[in-house]
Amino acid sequence: MNHANECIDCKACMKGCLMMEEFTDSPKTLLESIQNSPAKVAFSCAACGYCAHVCPKDISIQEYFVERKEALAPSELHNFGYKAVLFHQVLSFSKPLTTIKKFSATNYSHMAFMPGCALSSYSPKLVESIIHHLQRVSPGMGVLMQCCGKPTRVLGDIPRFERFYSALERDIARLGATTIVTACENCYMSLKTLSPHVKTISLYEWLDQMGIPECSFENATPVALHDPCPTRHEHELHESVRSLLKKMKLSFKEFKYNRDKTQCCGSGGMLDVTNPKLAREQMVSRAHQTECDTIVSYCQECARSMSRGGKSGVHILDLLFTPTVARSFKQPLHGTLTSWMNRYKTKRMIQNFKVKL
Ligand code: SF4
Ligand code: SF4
Repeated sequence: MNHANECIDCKACMKGCLMMEEFTDSPKTLLESIQNSPAKVAFSCAACGYCAHVCPKDISIQEYFVERKEALAPSELHNFGYKAVLFHQVLSFSKPLTTIKKFSATNYSHMAFMPGCALSSYSPKLVESIIHHLQRVSPGMGVLMQCCGKPTRVLGDIPRFERFYSALERDIARLGATTIVTACENCYMSLKTLSPHVKTISLYEWLDQMGIPECSFENATPVALHDPCPTRHEHELHESVRSLLKKMKLSFKEFKYNRDKTQCCGSGGMLDVTNPKLAREQMVSRAHQTECDTIVSYCQECARSMSRGGKSGVHILDLLFTPTVARSFKQPLHGTLTSWMNRYKTKRMIQNFKVKL
């Protein structure tokens, strides 16, 4: 059923969506013609969920685009950089870049930490430091280095997504894990919605409960906190991140559009591949919604997008576990080759990891 007739054209959904601004001046008109809209419109939706959250009539334009992408995927995806996405996904699920590990046969807790692709590509050292810390505060936790397959799902290639996701399910079964602790917000939402047989906990909630390394940023210049859009409705997670920042004594400012009203960083929905110009505009737009020069987030893609948008994007995990970034409030930016090498190094590190208590 199309809800176009319920839309009052208040344009609330447009205010946080550059994509709608680019393609229409009336959401009602867009809804009326959405089934016949050009493929470029649907593949420019970042799947951020902002439109559904702010709509007074509970209309989710995002859902229409999800359907549209799925219908168009077989014939149109190749026009939107999909070859590169598929190459990325095939490598992401390949043996050299995936692994599972239990560190102790005797006290395995049936919990596993899942760092996710973005963090593994960014810094094997950071992932290693997190694992060391987790072994101290929650001994017996294993590691699951695997992709959640979101790129194929968000672009509407459901048959391929299902094949990829089944590899993640197989690894969870091989590990015998009943709880997965995720560092990435995409992994968190994928597991929470698609694998209800396991308990999914965000690393940030876990660290807030179990403890963080001693640190103080009392004298640092205030930063802005960006909430990633996949977890816009996860209120406890929002609270945990704010609690962590308070424990770190890091003064932070909220974005006007924060928590469940947060806006996309520009990387959602594989926008960087399907419509790079719009992705870049969204990165710049979001990064400049705050006066702060440093923007802290709890998603590596968001942190990177804020740097690409002209500010200094930093991951909260960097501030806890990467001394160089904690001193400079600047992440190193890597090219594609380094990112793939880092993922391989992360896998090797996990395989060779020795627990030091
Ligand atoms: S999900 Fe986000 S990008 Fe897509 S239409 Fe809604 S607000 Fe725009
Ligand atoms: S917020 Fe809802 S009612 Fe308002 S224009 Fe958008 S879809 Fe229509």
